Amino acid sequence: MDVTIVEVSPRDGLQNEAVILPTEAKVELVTRLVAAGARRVEAVSFAHPRLVPAMADAEAVMARVPRAAGVAYAGLVLNRRGLDRALAAGVDEVNVVVCVSETFNRRNQNATTEESMQAAVEVLGRARDNGLSTTITLATSFGCPFEGEVDPERVVGLAARGAAAGAHELCLADTIGVGVPSQVRDLGARVRDAVGEEPPLRFHFHNTRNTGFANAVAAVELGARVLDASAGGIGGCPFAPRATGNIATDDLVYLLERMGLGTGYDLEALLPTAAFLGDRLGHEVPALLPRAGVFP
Ligand code: ZN
Repeated sequence: MDVTIVEVSPRDGLQNEAVILPTEAKVELVTRLVAAGARRVEAVSFAHPRLVPAMADAEAVMARVPRAAGVAYAGLVLNRRGLDRALAAGVDEVNVVVCVSETFNRRNQNATTEESMQAAVEVLGRARDNGLSTTITLATSFGCPFEGEVDPERVVGLAARGAAAGAHELCLADTIGVGVPSQVRDLGARVRDAVGEEPPLRFHFHNTRNTGFANAVAAVELGARVLDASAGGIGGCPFAPRATGNIATDDLVYLLERMGLGTGYDLEALLPTAAFLGDRLGHEVPALLPRAGVFP
């Protein structure tokens, strides 16, 4: 596989939708994704249910997702308590999130960035000790809805600490979809200069301002081999009510495969998922490929 897509529709997608799907529909979504070739799925979040009501059934979802060789399930974790839940639920990977923007972190996690980073270091260590793969995601790396521009050196500093704490993967996230390709190249190069080739970079893009796919191509050209995407492009953004969501897996798979980069997905098997999601969420999904069809 040339590019591994981490399928985030069950987590980032569904947690930002107005409609909260029942457990059964979440499990069906994950089952469809795995059948279409998804090999890494961020299935749940272990954020406090009061903060993220759509993820309150994380344990129930994890208990029912199809387990198959080569398929890894990740849970998003914000703190020690979240890691305890993730370990008990039997995830294969943990994705611990720290927001680079102080204001965003306070609103999202009710803590300072420094407090969240210290918690992340502990979570990364304990997750590794328990044999799990670990990712640290630096949210708002490309901009903040409250503070505006984010200092790239803050991103670099947190990335270096995540690497030193033993994270298997560093994910730079454009949480609100404001980034552009030149920024991807600049930030990627800065982080590489500071931490070297290991751990590998992963990128998380939203298509809020229609730059997400250009950013994805920039990331791949930079050498990144792991990208987050969401089936149907679902997800939106709580800070921009009419925004589209993550870059759509459907459109990204088409783009990468036409560039000659294998993703392991079967597009024909994936495409009906858009209609399934549209039906369950009550609105057409943003992805374009399901409307236009596969070519050739
Ligand atoms: Zn996101």
